[in-house]
Amino acid sequence: MAQLQLSSLQREQTLQTLQQQTFDLVVIGGGITGAGIALDAVARGMSVALIEKYDFASGTSSRSTKLIHGGLRYLKQFEIKLVREVGRERDIIWRNAPHVVHPENMLLPIIEKGSLGKSSTSVGLYVYDVLAGVKRSERRVMLDKAQTLNQEPMLRKEIVLGGGLYKEYRTDDARLTIEVLKTARKHGATILNYVQANGFVYDNKRAVGVLVEDTINGGRFEIKTHKIVNAAGPWVDELRKSDNSLKGKRLHLTKGVHIVVPYERLPLKQAIYFDVADGRMIFAIPRDKVTYIGTTDTNYQGDIDQPLTTKADVDYLLKAINDIVPGQKLLPADVTSSWAGLRPLIHEDGKDPSELSRKDEIFLSPSGVISIAGGKLTGFRKMAERTVDLVAEQLSTEKKKTYQTCTTDRIKLSGGDFDNPSDIAKLIAQVQATTQFKEVDARILVEKYGSNTPAILKAAVDKEGTWAEKLLMAELDYAINEELVYTPADFLVRRTGRLYFERESIDNIYPTVVNTLFETLKYSQEQRERFEAQFNQEYQQAFQFL
Ligand code: FAD
Repeated sequence: MAQLQLSSLQREQTLQTLQQQTFDLVVIGGGITGAGIALDAVARGMSVALIEKYDFASGTSSRSTKLIHGGLRYLKQFEIKLVREVGRERDIIWRNAPHVVHPENMLLPIIEKGSLGKSSTSVGLYVYDVLAGVKRSERRVMLDKAQTLNQEPMLRKEIVLGGGLYKEYRTDDARLTIEVLKTARKHGATILNYVQANGFVYDNKRAVGVLVEDTINGGRFEIKTHKIVNAAGPWVDELRKSDNSLKGKRLHLTKGVHIVVPYERLPLKQAIYFDVADGRMIFAIPRDKVTYIGTTDTNYQGDIDQPLTTKADVDYLLKAINDIVPGQKLLPADVTSSWAGLRPLIHEDGKDPSELSRKDEIFLSPSGVISIAGGKLTGFRKMAERTVDLVAEQLSTEKKKTYQTCTTDRIKLSGGDFDNPSDIAKLIAQVQATTQFKEVDARILVEKYGSNTPAILKAAVDKEGTWAEKLLMAELDYAINEELVYTPADFLVRRTGRLYFERESIDNIYPTVVNTLFETLKYSQEQRERFEAQFNQEYQQAFQFL
């Protein structure tokens, strides 16, 4: 297979391809849903284009709890099929991308007046293990009070009755999305960010094209296609509206906020998933140098492009964690970063945000536009399979062509090329030996790039400065040439997660990041100012709350 890359240096050629070719399928939206669909479709032999109006994963897919769930929470809502599906999916994602998916302990404390009793938790976790097909070594262990407090000494001792220990898989949602997109590109998909769908072109009332705008340079054109999938997450209904097909079921957006504190301020031994006074449950997850806490779940009617963390969100989450971990007395000033995301759920009359189903649903418009909404990061591959099955069925009838069935359960994602997941530890040791980095910094690098790390390390050798400086330059080259990074926020927020997990590192590297992007991508002065202003806004919003 020819080496096909996601290079911002080829932006003009990619724009040309989008204008000249007629595709089998155009996917609108570069979150995890659109990425999964593009990969599945191109792997079945379709010609595919995917467009994203901002940056990949800049919507909900960089603002989740960052867990590949087995779906325990759905068990409480008796969504048995969903638990079974996401449990199996978790294993497939781990096999195909072990560098972005890591099994970790999750402690479920059973507390006085909480929603979970000892026997119901034991039975619940057991049923979950069976339904989700959990590996024997990762099955739940029930703990008594002393064992629970030994497992996590920071919990409020007086109220803890016992606990359940099980595995959740930690991920980086934005990295998972870009790895899926890179893999789709390797299979031949044409993929570009900063290209917005503004409407559709019709022939005999059938949608046969997408009207788009290059949001970097302002050019407008049409992409010709046989099939269109609207995978625009929280924006799905906006596109349905412009297709005149917003009838029947609609989206119901709820906002979920996470806050980040330095690890030293909340040094949990492992993640916890705990009861809150209002009947909801919240995670506190240690990750490298920080611990993050979330999420809220509130109805949302504001600007879809700008969901913000408010003081009220921060107070709610701090109260929740201070109630269960009383010794730390966390304050708003401890919060170093945050993110607010919108769940694109399907509306159900009379249900509260936390009661709404997380199931996905496909809407078929009379014009032929297929919209997909709802679902989870964890279930993205199955959502893609269902959507592409439909596209393949329609194309087969219309074009008298046959397509392969879904193969994505066997496709290694970019960066996931390890014979054995234990080889990741060897690679971390190799990075440490070469760079003399601390284990945590070597691990952060390897968990970002997986089996692509050695190429970045090799490129770094020829750069100037300390190993940290060399690697930053090599990462930037890689980000521009292989991951379609165009603006500082693409790099600092979505490709490297620095805004959330290493905010303190940004001041130091910011001039290098901006100057390198400016010089390599040859921004105009107006673009430089625009992109810097955009990043500054995102940066401030992460820790200054209204
Ligand atoms: P998005 O990621 O929002 O992608 C849609 C994309 O479409 C956006 O990038 C947008 O810019 C683009 N777009 C919109 N309009 C246009 C247009 N006109 N032209 C071009 N592009 C357009 N799931 C899990 O499995 N595990 C979790 O731990 C988890 N936690 C969550 C916590 C929170 C707080 C939230 C909100 C969700 C969570 N989820 C979780 C759910 C999961 O994050 C979402 O289901 C998933 O990210 C949705 O992806 P998407 O691609 O459908 O939407």
